[in-house]
Order: sequence, then structure tokens, then C-alpha cells
Amino acid sequence: MSNEASDLKYKRVLLKISGEALMGGRDFGLDPETISRVAAEVKEARDKGTEICLVIGGGNIFRGISGAAQGMERTTADYMGMLATVMNALAMQGALEELGVYTRVMSAIPMQTVCEPYIRRRAVRHMEKGRVVIFAAGTGNPFFTTDTAAALRASEMDCDAMIKGTKVDGVYDSDPVKNPDAKRYETLSYRRVLTDDLKVMDASAITLSRDNQIPILVFSIHKQGEFARVMQGDGTFTVVEGD
Ligand code: UDP
Repeated sequence: MSNEASDLKYKRVLLKISGEALMGGRDFGLDPETISRVAAEVKEARDKGTEICLVIGGGNIFRGISGAAQGMERTTADYMGMLATVMNALAMQGALEELGVYTRVMSAIPMQTVCEPYIRRRAVRHMEKGRVVIFAAGTGNPFFTTDTAAALRASEMDCDAMIKGTKVDGVYDSDPVKNPDAKRYETLSYRRVLTDDLKVMDASAITLSRDNQIPILVFSIHKQGEFARVMQGDGTFTVVEGD
């Protein structure tokens, strides 16, 4: 760990990345080049001393709600969605280890021959030892999302912030891709996100973060070096905190 650790604004964080963020230009699945790029971002921040855990979605492979819409039982579809997040977690573990970063995948659905089961105290220990912990299989329960899993694990790990890596550098009042005049918020309250239905994370994730007073930072995962900058309180992002 470098002596730059003392410059860190956020010492221990949970980074949430949606499955789509790993698709690159594809319509489905995983893009190895994109995964490697995201892994390099994680490594840079880790090398500067931030303790990092990750939650990766599964929407690039399977979403329970879309399976249910096609007539599948909702709970079955949700379990399939959770298994999809395990695949993404393993892909990210591979990419991080390729870069020499020590990692552990911990699954909320035990599958001992593939990865460790999730045990909170053990996860904390891994993080203290500087390993990047990747939480897989969401909360392990149907009817939840990986956003909620991220808020839950960030609370359990006593993280200083939950970081949401997206395609854009924060939360805007309208879609910045479609509207060049869209305005980016610097800060937002949890209440405002909920009442204005701003697309930060789903409502249960916002509520859980508010209850545990964990700030949510939204930034662009595709801007090189940005994750490490955000950890030092620099860079461009929107922060959800306060009331
Ligand atoms: N899922 C679930 N319980 C959880 C987390 C996820 O049932 O605790 C299922 C749910 O079907 C969800 C899918 O896994 O649609 C993939 O997760 P998500 O949609 O959150 O992925 P993302 O949008 O972040 O890629």
C-alpha cells in the first residue's frame, strides 16, 4: 500500500457496476477488453490504498423480470439472474488476477467448488488484508436487485461510500446523451432522489443507504483514471448524501 493512502477521502468503498457496463459495444454478454479496462481502474485505486469490494450486476446475461415476462416463474428467473452475476464476478476476478490483484469471490448462494460462501467477518478480513472482494449472487434472495445487494454489502462492510460506475459522469436532470443542455447535479439528498424518481439506484438501495448514512457517488467508469481520482475527492461525480 502506498503512502498516498493518507490523501484518500474514501478509505473503504463498494463499487457497483451493472452488467451492461461490461458489454462494451456488444448487445449481450461480456466484452473482455471492457472488463480488462474496468479491472485496471480498480487496480489503480487499490494501488493508491483504497480498500475495495465489488458488486457486479447480471443484466448483460439475464434479468429476472424479463424472464418472468416470458412466462417463467419469477423466483426461478431471479435465481437465474443471480447465477448470471456469479459469471460476471468470475470474469472480473480473472481480469483482476491477470493484473496481479489479489481477489476473492464470495457468493450469497453457496457454491463451494467455485468460490467462497459469503461470511461477513471473513469478507472484512479479506479487505483488511488488501484483497479485492467481489460479492456474487446478489443478496441470495429473489425479488431483489444487485443495487440493493450493493447497499446491503456496503452497510455490512462499513464502507465510507458506495460508488456507482456508469456510462456518464453523474446524475443529470435529463438524459445527457440525448439532451446536450442536460444539467449535472453536484449533490443530491436521498429524499430528492426518491421523490423525483431520479435514476440513481432502485428505491430500496437508496433507502438502505440513507438509513445507514452511506453516501452514494455516481461517476463514469469509462473515463481513464477517474475511479482513483474520485477516491481522493477529485474528478467529476454526483454525490447523494444528507437527508
Ligand atoms: N437478483 C435477485 N436478487 C438479488 C440480486 C439480483 O433476484 O439480490 C436477480 C434479478 O433477477 C436481477 C438479476 O439477478 O434482475 C440481475 O441483477 P440486476 O438486474 O440487478 O443487474 P444489473 O442491472 O446491475 O446488471
